[in-house]
Amino acid sequence: MKTLQLKDCNLLVIGLGLIGGSLAKDCVERKVFNKVIGYSRKSETMAKAKELGLINDFEADLETAVSQSDVIFISVPILTTEKIIAAIAPYLKTETILTDGGSSKESIVESARQFLSTTQFENFVPGHPIAGAENSGVHAARANLYQNQKIILTPEDETNKTAISIVKAMWQAVGGQVDLMSPQRHDSVLAATSHLPHLLAFNLVDSLAKNSDYKDIFNYAAGGFRDFTRIAASDPVMWHDIFQANQKSVLTALDQFLSELHRLRDAVEKSDGDYMKKVFMDAKVARDHFSKILEARNSGCSEE
Ligand code: NAD
Repeated sequence: MKTLQLKDCNLLVIGLGLIGGSLAKDCVERKVFNKVIGYSRKSETMAKAKELGLINDFEADLETAVSQSDVIFISVPILTTEKIIAAIAPYLKTETILTDGGSSKESIVESARQFLSTTQFENFVPGHPIAGAENSGVHAARANLYQNQKIILTPEDETNKTAISIVKAMWQAVGGQVDLMSPQRHDSVLAATSHLPHLLAFNLVDSLAKNSDYKDIFNYAAGGFRDFTRIAASDPVMWHDIFQANQKSVLTALDQFLSELHRLRDAVEKSDGDYMKKVFMDAKVARDHFSKILEARNSGCSEE
């Protein structure tokens, strides 16, 4: 692959919501690429993205959009990502670098392997920005979403090194801190740190809302519960896809959590104060450690 400079390349962003729109906006504002082109399902979304300054231009025909682009970032829900990879494969130039932002990686890598040619697959760099929010859609896109945030790339052994460095440079240009790991490790880590907490929040808020006393529950809810409701407001389609795509790792994390929860339930039933204090103290120590990591990241220092 010839030497590529981002500023000579056109970036195509497929899916102009929180993740794609925010990347596009920073790339436009920081003039990272020659041009940022947007593609979405609905023409209103593309027009709105242009009006909001998220993209330089849009292209309603996917084949034309793909053929004009040197780097393509797919940022749609995971099951749709797999369909888009299949749809663009017939007209994806072999030298075009393809990447994505999906929250789980193994199933996307499997689809890419299935639908792309060997050379196209070598230029596919799966990714996941560990940044986001419960808001979605074109209006949720914002500048600096990725500043000092972790970006995980999950290349395979055969992934082209130049393609990896181009995708890495793209994320670094918008302030991201790039780490590389295998798709399997990504999926098991994210199942524990993100997917399980979301599953618990959806479940807690839904089960309390079904309770006949729900008005009192919501009236007297304090900050802790408010945080759960914020997480539970995340996009249902996106999360439906994540739990389908990362089923195995989510079930492993959930089973481990359920066994710890049963142990804690026993302690509450038996008034086992020592056990409860130990769990709460260990959790507090973990929280303090996590806060230090976050502080170091926000001040731009590396952690660990
Ligand atoms: P979003 O709903 O904000 O945006 C998705 C966009 O894709 C929407 O504009 C939608 O109209 C468009 N879209 C849907 N189907 C399409 C299709 N067939 N063709 C073209 N466009 C289509 O979602 P998001 O939060 O930006 O998430 C996008 C991806 O990023 C998902 O795979 C998600 O797992 C991942 N992700 C999300 C977060 C987060 O916190 N929201 C964080 C990291 C990664």
